[in-house]
Amino acid sequence: MPASNPSDTDFARLPLSPADLHNLAQLGYERMTPIQAASLPPALEGRDLIAQAETGSGKTAAFGLALLARLNPRFFGVQAMVLCPTRELADQVTTELRRLARAQDNIKTVTLCGGVPLRNQTASLEHGAHIVVGTPGRIMDHLDRGHLQLEGLRTLVLDEADRMLDMGFNDDIVKVARQCPADRQTLLFSATYPEGIAQLSKQFLRNPLTIKIEAKQDLRHITQQWYEVKEDDRLDAVVRLLRHHKPDSALAFCNTKQQCRDLLAVLRGHGFAALALYGELEQVERDQVLVRFANRSATVLVATDVAARGLDIARLAAVVTVEVTPDPEVHVHRIGRTGRAGEKGLALNLASMDEMGRVGRIELLQGQPTKWDKLDALTDDGQPPALPPMATLQILGGRKEKIRAGDVLGALTGEAGFTREQIGKIDVNEFSTYVAVQRQLAHDAVRRLNAGRIKGKSVKVRLLED
Ligand code: AMP
Repeated sequence: MPASNPSDTDFARLPLSPADLHNLAQLGYERMTPIQAASLPPALEGRDLIAQAETGSGKTAAFGLALLARLNPRFFGVQAMVLCPTRELADQVTTELRRLARAQDNIKTVTLCGGVPLRNQTASLEHGAHIVVGTPGRIMDHLDRGHLQLEGLRTLVLDEADRMLDMGFNDDIVKVARQCPADRQTLLFSATYPEGIAQLSKQFLRNPLTIKIEAKQDLRHITQQWYEVKEDDRLDAVVRLLRHHKPDSALAFCNTKQQCRDLLAVLRGHGFAALALYGELEQVERDQVLVRFANRSATVLVATDVAARGLDIARLAAVVTVEVTPDPEVHVHRIGRTGRAGEKGLALNLASMDEMGRVGRIELLQGQPTKWDKLDALTDDGQPPALPPMATLQILGGRKEKIRAGDVLGALTGEAGFTREQIGKIDVNEFSTYVAVQRQLAHDAVRRLNAGRIKGKSVKVRLLED
């Protein structure tokens, strides 16, 4: 990429309407992010793209502005479709598209994800939708039933394509793409390039332009320590690191889901409040793990790189590299999750002799020597690990039942008699609401909510435990 000149990142250089430019300014989007500056000009010309971008890079607006530019608001048929790996991401994409489309007349966006009855989605489609955002399986269902017509489709977006492949959506993506008109534009966004992505792009993209942005992270706030470990001692070494450093919250990266499962068992065996996140978890399980870690009901989250993508934890005390990743950029991305927003971070890294080549590549990429410490020098005070400060209650009922966070807070602080300070984060999902409460009050809160009412109705509440 040529050296960037400030005007290169000005939205005004794009062929967008004054109303769109005004809307971007109102949203507070002053300059294009690197992925937007690289992908919007060719995308607005109609080129197919393979773009490397992660959540947080502004990728949604990169494909969103491109697909909106090709819409005809007066034609009430599906003209753009975004395939996403999860419902969470589909919801985020829909929200962002609606924001971006505010300046245009009456653009309808429908989200189609599994886990909800088809009926309501079918009704929304019948009312005429310009844009469909959803997971491949559910979109396939609607296509099979003849609810969804794609002959007017102009733009197909594959968002987080690597993660969709990881979750076993390859066949559905292929089937959906085959039903789209041949002269459409295809935009593929992916954080990594496994072999499956090359296959997909060969099959479905026409003369695509590849866009890769080098992410530069500031790692100066992060203390990085390395420990040499024997293969057989690896999981116990994680326990020793956590017992010595005692981080309030830690994200431990493994390279495989089997390693995640094994580490989870070892950590729980030692009394840690640990959870794990890896591909192939059911959506509901995934939602619960994310909610519980983010609201401080667990101290350790064990995850693979792909599964942890999009996980955004504001204050993460430590990252643990359980196994070294072959890609040095992935390593930098792993440790960049701690020490955010000006806080200090701690990266604890284990490496076996067989992984020293990988460590060398990380050293080269960071341009600084690796600092080694000895596992034998770690201390252990013999105390059990600290429990997390919060616990999570699941209320059976969510957005579908029109429950809002305020209703739950009202029930807990009103009738049930708790104070605002005793209640943590409240997440309202489609069918469930998750509320964090101080751990020692959890059983009491379950009892009182079960006995009381939310929005005038009695509810079922349970404590999430392992
Ligand atoms: P994404 O990577 O698409 O998930 O976007 C990350 C966040 O950045 C979202 O909250 C967007 O609303 C926001 N965003 C996207 N583009 C810009 C921009 N050019 N300037 C400021 N914020 C942006």
